[in-house]
Amino acid sequence: MEYNYDDQNIFAKILRGEIPNKTAFENDHALAFHDINPQAPVHVLVIPKGPYMSLDHFARDASADEQVGFFAAVAAVCEKFDLGQGFRGISNTRTHGVQEVPHYHMHILGGRPLGRMLD
Ligand code: IMP
Repeated sequence: MEYNYDDQNIFAKILRGEIPNKTAFENDHALAFHDINPQAPVHVLVIPKGPYMSLDHFARDASADEQVGFFAAVAAVCEKFDLGQGFRGISNTRTHGVQEVPHYHMHILGGRPLGRMLD
């Protein structure tokens, strides 16, 4: 599926330093920052630095280095916030997935028992 990446989305502005963020971790290919409206004691968003709209685009179009860097950031967040007891990684995708910001992101939620989601 082709797509037009909107470089005016809020996460693109965060990556350009136009909007402040509370950074949790950063490497060459990814930025992790605290969600502005946390739904759990730990609620961090991990985003790639490249212009990918959604999980499937990132999986299809990002280079191996970008994908490794992204998941290294996910692992670093889990380590930093001591999520050994568990967490949830969520990537809401487009309309049916109720994705609000059109730049790929993974929510990392943890710090308490989260309950079941898929019943
Ligand atoms: P989505 O529905 O998966 O796209 O979630 C977007 C998330 O971005 C929501 O959880 C928002 O609270 C979060 N968010 C929106 N703007 C900002 C911001 O400026 N800083 C941090 N998080 C934000």
